[in-house]
Amino acid sequence: MRQAQGQFSVSDVIIDLLNSLSAIRGLSELNSQAASEKELIFKALSILICNQDMERCSFFILDEEQCLVNLTGISSKEYSGAERTARAPLKFKMGQGIIGQAAKTGELQQCMNCKEDKRFFQQAEDVSPGSVISGPIFAAGELVGVLNISHPEVNYFSEWHIRLLHIYKNMMGELIANYRLLQRMEEQIAVRTRHLERALEDVRLLKEHHENMSMRDELTGLYNRRYFYAQIETALARSRSQRQALCLMVLDLDHFKEINDVYGHGFGDTVLKDVSRAIKEEIRESDILARFGGEEFVMVFTNMNDSKGQLFAERIRKKIESLRCLCKQQPVRITASIGLYCLTEEHLNQDDLNIDLLIHYADKALYAAKAAGRNRIVLFTEAGQGNK
Ligand code: GH3
Ligand code: MG
Ligand code: MG
Repeated sequence: MRQAQGQFSVSDVIIDLLNSLSAIRGLSELNSQAASEKELIFKALSILICNQDMERCSFFILDEEQCLVNLTGISSKEYSGAERTARAPLKFKMGQGIIGQAAKTGELQQCMNCKEDKRFFQQAEDVSPGSVISGPIFAAGELVGVLNISHPEVNYFSEWHIRLLHIYKNMMGELIANYRLLQRMEEQIAVRTRHLERALEDVRLLKEHHENMSMRDELTGLYNRRYFYAQIETALARSRSQRQALCLMVLDLDHFKEINDVYGHGFGDTVLKDVSRAIKEEIRESDILARFGGEEFVMVFTNMNDSKGQLFAERIRKKIESLRCLCKQQPVRITASIGLYCLTEEHLNQDDLNIDLLIHYADKALYAAKAAGRNRIVLFTEAGQGNK
């Protein structure tokens, strides 16, 4: 811009007008997308210095203590590539200096000769400029800071500058308001997304818990009867497709009623838990183990023929027999009877084969084991149950 005190020519006025319009256009094209508010303001200041002949423009942000602190700024030399000179940020109290006055009054302040003007507050470490203009910036009706432009010459700024600064500071206010709104919205979205994710996780855990509860027996944590029926179909289908024998065992604790009667129901519960744990330790991941009811357990072992099945059942029987469940520090002997049914490869595709029939066979063997004196295993055979 030309000097206020100098001669104006028509072409000077047109150039000033074009430069002002370019600055306004540049700012209007700046969107609110920036990594930080400081970066956004710096971009706005750079547009101003690029289109206007001034030495430095700066933004003073209103801090929590109601002071105006130099947030960012740029000089024409820095804009042209000169290295930025690091300096401690200037700080003004409300009403202090031209910047403080602009903030306090809410009106644009101009100082044509800083050395003579009493309002100008000289900070010890700062080089005094010739003239300055300070414009308060409002975002959504609230004072957020002050835009300050300076030049080393006195009486440098003209009516053009003042009018342009009015428009420019208002536009910067809009830009900052939009940026803050966007930030708040993004923060709210992030908070709500976090809440939603947490709620979804809770729902998932709850669903998992309910699914688990509906499949498991509360006392022992073993699968229940319902789960057993759901799983055995799959196991049977796999045995058929792979043509592998399958063993089914029904295990029932001996004289359990008596144990309850003598030692109490609470101790009976402890025995059920100990026995469950003991059996679980013996079986493979792929085997199915369920508490069928009361003190009765059912197990299915895929890829297991009758001789292996009997060995395995015997191992479990012995393990239960060796358990020493303590009641008032006294070990109580527990035994179990096992009925075993083995579905051989040649019987896998029998038409009348169903789960209840397999359980029925194993049950028959179990009754035979009980009848034969308990604490033993019996393998079901078509001819009758022979004690093993
Ligand atoms: P057997 O050798 O013929 O199997 O005799 P038993 O006494 O074990 O057989 P019976 O079926 O007469 O008794 C089973 C007992 O198991 C009766 C019931 O009170 C007890 N029982 C069933 N469920 C539970 C349970 O969850 N906890 C406890 N403590 N006892 C249970
Ligand atoms: Mg029993
Ligand atoms: Mg029973």
